[in-house]
Amino acid sequence: MALIVQKFGGTSVGSVERIEQVAAKVKKFRDNGDDIVVVVSAMSGETNRLIDLAKQISEQPVARELDVMVSTGEQVTIALLAMALMKIGVPAVSYTGAQVRILTDSAHTKARILQIDSQQIHKELKAGRVVVVAGFQGVDEAGNITTLGRGGSDTTGVALAAALKADECQIYTDVDGVYTTDPRVVAKAQRLDKITFEEMLEMASLGSKVLQIRAVEFAGKYSVPLRVLHSFQEGPGTLITLDEEESMEQPIISGIAFNRDEAKLTIRGVPDTPGVAFKILGPVSAANVEVDMIVQNVAHDNTTDFTFTVHRNDYHNALQVLEGIARDMGAREVIGDIDIAKVSIVGVGMRSHAGVASRMFEALAKENINIQMISTSEIKVSVVIEEKYLELAVRALHTAFELDAPAGKGE
Ligand code: ADP
Ligand code: ASP
Ligand code: MG
Repeated sequence: MALIVQKFGGTSVGSVERIEQVAAKVKKFRDNGDDIVVVVSAMSGETNRLIDLAKQISEQPVARELDVMVSTGEQVTIALLAMALMKIGVPAVSYTGAQVRILTDSAHTKARILQIDSQQIHKELKAGRVVVVAGFQGVDEAGNITTLGRGGSDTTGVALAAALKADECQIYTDVDGVYTTDPRVVAKAQRLDKITFEEMLEMASLGSKVLQIRAVEFAGKYSVPLRVLHSFQEGPGTLITLDEEESMEQPIISGIAFNRDEAKLTIRGVPDTPGVAFKILGPVSAANVEVDMIVQNVAHDNTTDFTFTVHRNDYHNALQVLEGIARDMGAREVIGDIDIAKVSIVGVGMRSHAGVASRMFEALAKENINIQMISTSEIKVSVVIEEKYLELAVRALHTAFELDAPAGKGE
């Protein structure tokens, strides 16, 4: 008998029929003798609908109240699923994040889980009930409802699995595993049987939304066996593993991630003196804006250009800060660009292969795609390009690194 945490995403609980299908699936596992804790998201589209409502009142809604509201999406689905389970004879009970006591910090809309009280859940399991827990939400020390950031139900699932010392955490979604890249963009993408935590962490942080990055962090830190599966199709899914297999077939890169959520800012003609980077990025960071990629050009006439990227949501804030800095420093001008995208290739195989970056640049050059910025780490290479070329770039790289499914095997 195993203890399994199963998380079902928004589309998997997007209608009453689907919720009943999920209940039937959970019943099968339970009939097998397993103890089941289910984490659910809000019905698909619901979280967006709620955020839109708030934005009709205020462009920047008060974060505490936004959390009170968006957390209701998950409260609806836990109750519906518990009812659906009981209807088919499975004893079940629902809990909100606060009721479990998923304790978080107070960073509304992006809170971090600090501690989970697993006692009540163990008690319910012992009494023979399936426990249905609301994803994406928690409660802070003062009793305020918090949420964990978009995609946060994945993190609830993994964190619960860690706290309960579950045998496996299964993330059920609308694709049958983790693919070499988003199968909605590249029809020839292939499902991976396995991917390492390290690679999955890079893929998630570079834009692959199939798993929230904090969920992968948690799973790695607490060694939670994690699998991504299709909610309504049978199949082995993708296992996120610790071991890096050294095999002849190990591909050089495992996947391609991309992200349209960034914006680029350039401050031109700043004096090329010690401390320039700090003078520019200090105030940006003080404004709570996180910087991603950074490039400082070679100086001409003792002045230089300094470029960096930020999240698109922070663009206007960062631009304002930068214009102030430009005035203080006597810089020539500030240029902003939101029509950019970041494409990254990821793979532990890069460690043992030279020339991976140049192969990437060659593939992009062949398509006449200009590279605006580059950044590398041990297992990834990222480039910033014009957004309109994003899909072309992803497809070209998928082919260049021999990731395309053989003819007839793609979706
Ligand atoms: P859920 O609502 O179940 O949490 P999400 O929409 O958050 O589902 O995540 C699943 C989606 O992630 C897929 O439909 C797919 O379009 C997207 N995706 C992006 N990159 C990948 C990838 N490398 N492998 C699989 N899916 C991916
Ligand atoms: N409902 C939340 C969202 O849409 C959390 C989740 O689905 O994981 O982001
Ligand atoms: Mg998700």
